[in-house]
Amino acid sequence: MIVAIDGPAGAGKSTVARAVAAHLGAGYLDTGAIYRAVTWAVLRDGADPRDAAACTAVAAGSPVDLEPTPDGLRVLVGDVDVTEDIRAPRVTGSVSEVSAHPGVRAAVTEASRRIMAGGDWVSDGRDVGTVIVPLAEVKVFLTAAPRERARRRQADLAARGVDASLDEVLQDIAHRDHLDTTRAEGPLRRADGAVLIDSSDMTAVEVVEAIAALAGAAREAARR
Ligand code: C5P
Repeated sequence: MIVAIDGPAGAGKSTVARAVAAHLGAGYLDTGAIYRAVTWAVLRDGADPRDAAACTAVAAGSPVDLEPTPDGLRVLVGDVDVTEDIRAPRVTGSVSEVSAHPGVRAAVTEASRRIMAGGDWVSDGRDVGTVIVPLAEVKVFLTAAPRERARRRQADLAARGVDASLDEVLQDIAHRDHLDTTRAEGPLRRADGAVLIDSSDMTAVEVVEAIAALAGAAREAARR
């Protein structure tokens, strides 16, 4: 069974997806981490994030690996551990530009499908339910009010020792939302059949319970 969770930045997708995966005994695939790893490689190589051909070449030549650990996913580009570096502001600032290129999206889509071919997976991103796995048994569009998303993202950054004002984070989120929803290829949108969850006034545990209930119902329906 595949559970696809899409939504804008800061909606709490990763926290919730990881917990749902643990609940279901499924694997967890963070597609945003792959786009971030490709962006890290683009910046490492000194390529221009707006150069489609250069970014596509970097994506094709930079194998990204995600290894589950008790503390979350370890992200590797080749044999370099980039788990921390892909969350740095310079990567966050360029990831929506790099991920807009169709060649980059094709490479990440193919890699994601290969990882999830077989078994149970929970995956989060922007186009998991629309492009990567449109036939996912459970599809969720997880969102929250922009200010609440910015507050959560700011708390995440603070936990990682990065100081950012609420206004800075709000601006970054608005910028990424704009690029992610307006690009031609795989734009962020609610997939057909996706259940809309607005988590503005919900705790992470409540969201996990809601998605776990959807997964339980899907399993039950499949058994009948
Ligand atoms: O989920 P996260 O914020 O880490 O994703 C980083 C960026 O990667 C997003 O802002 C978006 O530009 C891109 N992304 C995407 N498609 C996905 C997942 C992430 O374009 N499926």
